[in-house]
Amino acid sequence: MTILRTVLGDVPAERSGMILTHEHLLYGYPGAETDHRTVLDYDATIDMISAQVSRGMSEFGYGTMVDMTPPEVGRHPQLMADVARRTGMNVIAITGFFPERMGIPYYWRRQTVEELTDFFVRDLTEGMVFAWQQTPYKAGVIKIATGQESVEPKPSPIGPNGRRIHYYEDRVIRAAGRASARVGCAVNTHTDPMDYDVTNPGIEQLDILEEEGADPSRVIIGHAFVNPDPVQLRDICRRGANLQLDHIGIPWRVDTAEELDEMMADALVGLVEDGYGDQLVLSYDRWFFNPRSDVTESDPQLANEKVDIGYMFTSFIPRLKKKGLTDEQVSRMLIDNPRRILAIPA
Ligand SMILES: [Zn+2]
Repeated sequence: MTILRTVLGDVPAERSGMILTHEHLLYGYPGAETDHRTVLDYDATIDMISAQVSRGMSEFGYGTMVDMTPPEVGRHPQLMADVARRTGMNVIAITGFFPERMGIPYYWRRQTVEELTDFFVRDLTEGMVFAWQQTPYKAGVIKIATGQESVEPKPSPIGPNGRRIHYYEDRVIRAAGRASARVGCAVNTHTDPMDYDVTNPGIEQLDILEEEGADPSRVIIGHAFVNPDPVQLRDICRRGANLQLDHIGIPWRVDTAEELDEMMADALVGLVEDGYGDQLVLSYDRWFFNPRSDVTESDPQLANEKVDIGYMFTSFIPRLKKKGLTDEQVSRMLIDNPRRILAIPA
């Protein structure tokens, strides 16, 4: 038997329902949790997030959601557990870190690969620590991340290891590979769309993960469709890893959602035609709650908050079907594939 490791405990994998593999219930860049303007009205926040999650469940059939927020970006185990209790959604937390340009706090930069591995394994098997306190809530997936993000919006320079991966990112990825092999859990990644102009960052991540013993069939390469190159996407699939099509309805590094959706849909249909339909998953990368939503009118990432939880069904899947995909092919990407990839041996 295989299970999904949710914040409320292990659930038989067959009870997943439809799965979103990359979302954020609460999202704030490192430091936001110390800002007077972001102090949470905890109960109101739970109400607001739960209302959106419940709508996703009752109207569209979602059953499981991976909250891809790492500890330095506001990961809140208690909040995830309370939303899960309130709604019945299977919420899977992650352990891991953001790209070095934005995350990996100094404290963790001082730890060895073995200490980082132990941190990930303990998050996955004992429960996460929040604000100096041990919680009973376990993570169920590992996140790794590379790239310059919006700090320096250009392709990453070549790092000390000869890859376009920074020094501390390399250590985090090695630890993730070891922890994944030890626990048998999935790794879901953040790649930077700009890096695909100069290298295949998904392949670079896989090289390190596999050197440390991770199984590529348990790895999901994220954000690869935002700057889609059919050859690079196929190379990742041929390696045995999986691809996540995300930012559905969320313009990122393009002007409109329409433009990105169309590009991503074409690339996805091409991969299905080539026989890679079992290695694809779908998600939004939605922010269910951003504590600064009152003052981010000029923030282009506001789109992460605005996209409707039903957009997948009202816009994106109809687009895929117009291009020839069947209901069965789509449901594999929303149920069977993510369930298989995220499942942990019981
Ligand atoms: Zn994200």
